[in-house]
Amino acid sequence: MSHSRRDFIKFVVAGSVTAGCPIDSTLLAAPAEAGPGPQIDSEHSEICHQVRDGHRFDVPPPTKSAAIVIIGGGVAGLSAAYFLRGQDFLLLEKEDHFGGNAFQEEYEGQPFATGSAFAYKGDYGDQLSGEMGLKLLPVNNPDPTIVNNTFVPDTWRAGIEHLPYTREVRESFRKFRDDIMKIKLRERVAELDSEPFSKYTAGYAPEIQQWWDGYGPSNWGAITQETSALLGIASLQDIASGGEDQRVILPGGLGCITHKLIEKLQPLYKERLLGNATVVSIVTDKAEARVTYHRDGKLTTVAAKAVIVCVPKLIASRLVSGLPADQKAAMQHTRYAPYPVVNLIFDKPVYNRGYDTWCPGNVFTDFIVADWTVRNTAGYQQKHNILTFYTPLRENQRFTLLDDENCKSLAARVLADFQKLMPEFNVNPVEVRLYRRGHPMFMAVPGQFTKNRLAAAQPMERVFFGNADSGGPESLTSESIRLSKTAAEWSAKVLAGDPNAKALALTALAASFQ
Ligand SMILES: Cc1cc2nc3c(=O)[nH]c(=O)nc-3n(C[C@H](O)[C@H](O)[C@H](O)COP(=O)(O)OP(=O)(O)OC[C@H]3O[C@@H](n4cnc5c(N)ncnc54)[C@H](O)[C@@H]3O)c2cc1C
Repeated sequence: MSHSRRDFIKFVVAGSVTAGCPIDSTLLAAPAEAGPGPQIDSEHSEICHQVRDGHRFDVPPPTKSAAIVIIGGGVAGLSAAYFLRGQDFLLLEKEDHFGGNAFQEEYEGQPFATGSAFAYKGDYGDQLSGEMGLKLLPVNNPDPTIVNNTFVPDTWRAGIEHLPYTREVRESFRKFRDDIMKIKLRERVAELDSEPFSKYTAGYAPEIQQWWDGYGPSNWGAITQETSALLGIASLQDIASGGEDQRVILPGGLGCITHKLIEKLQPLYKERLLGNATVVSIVTDKAEARVTYHRDGKLTTVAAKAVIVCVPKLIASRLVSGLPADQKAAMQHTRYAPYPVVNLIFDKPVYNRGYDTWCPGNVFTDFIVADWTVRNTAGYQQKHNILTFYTPLRENQRFTLLDDENCKSLAARVLADFQKLMPEFNVNPVEVRLYRRGHPMFMAVPGQFTKNRLAAAQPMERVFFGNADSGGPESLTSESIRLSKTAAEWSAKVLAGDPNAKALALTALAASFQ
């Protein structure tokens, strides 16, 4: 791409690489001049860095109280607040906006996703949406693949016959699918979760692993070699089962849910939803919990009876005092993928052939059409064709997100790769947006689901550990919501002094493979 053409495109870089703060040591090694770009609130990063570095804050005595404090305003924290409506809660979120990984942006009134994409019919996200009067619409489009300039609908069913590979490779795809379909998953959950998915792709055509090396990072942050076989196999069995497409969504991805949650909660509980409030410590004893947060340049401590921690374990491990050593270690073993998302905004229709299209061998793994489920509804006019490109990175590439120029170059490569996919894609967008996150998605590595997660998410007497990384087997909005529903019930028990609170939390943790 020539310089002038690159300059022609308006880039917008947003999001914080320290969203998953405290950040890891690879970021520490970055030179000062490669620090976060202008849209990153340095004050928040500064506090997070101090927590990460083990700074001892001069924690003031409590000057406020709330029965329940919720930490983190992603979908887990917001839904916990929703389930606690009418109760004495306080939610603390470090960014100046709510939504976490499920945050939508808009272009001239048209919403698009910066992270979380879709829910499944009847799952906790769909149920909560329905309850709030938001009807998620069916995707009804099995995923296509574009490879070798060829569009192949319904990749893993009828599509196999049309993949632009040799007959042997297509035969290998078919055999792989059929072999995987025979595996009795439910009888072998622990065993399969201890193995890498690559054990099951080995011996087949390399193009198969290449396909999953896109699908895995996009959906659960890990390439085939680092993916739990349980998840890889379950995913293919789901895709190829021949059943109806269960996915549902509206424009904005699952940001539509957090957007609606805010719309519902803010008018009623404005004072109880604090943005720009970074929690730096959580101390508990027999009588109460004390949560200290930094806001407007000062530290405040709030006394609570119960705390619902909805931040990733990477952060929780640094905030909560008195964690058992093995639990703290498990929290810190949880791995996270760095994950920028690029939106290309076109002022004319460029691509509306498939909802989620896989593109092996490109800088992005797949892309979705933002308004796919509403584009054919009566009276709807697609003003802009907004395409959301998923560009998950490897952990050792996290530091690249610190540099705005790197981010712009990544976005430019996304555009260049897209324009080469099919001749008709050679169109310039009116705007390019990149949203970067340093640690948004826990990686579904072997053992994370059946072992590490359970050790990391054990409840304490006054602390419930929510967030998507308490569930699984992959990072799912529905899991964040499911666990927040339990957290609301758990806190009622804690407040009532009911000794069954812990048992309730443990049952919910154990119940996450459906
Ligand atoms: C690119 C991408 C695509 C995805 N696609 C899907 C999908 O299609 N379907 C699906 O179900 N899921 C998807 N996911 C996963 C889904 O987004 C997450 O599971 C879900 O959004 C997690 O929500 P959460 O509230 O548990 O955590 P988070 O979203 O991580 O929220 C944590 C919040 O805590 C805040 N915080 C952090 N530290 C502090 C602190 N010290 N003090 C106060 N606040 C703090 C953060 O700013 C953040 O807002 C996707 C994720 C990504 C990144």
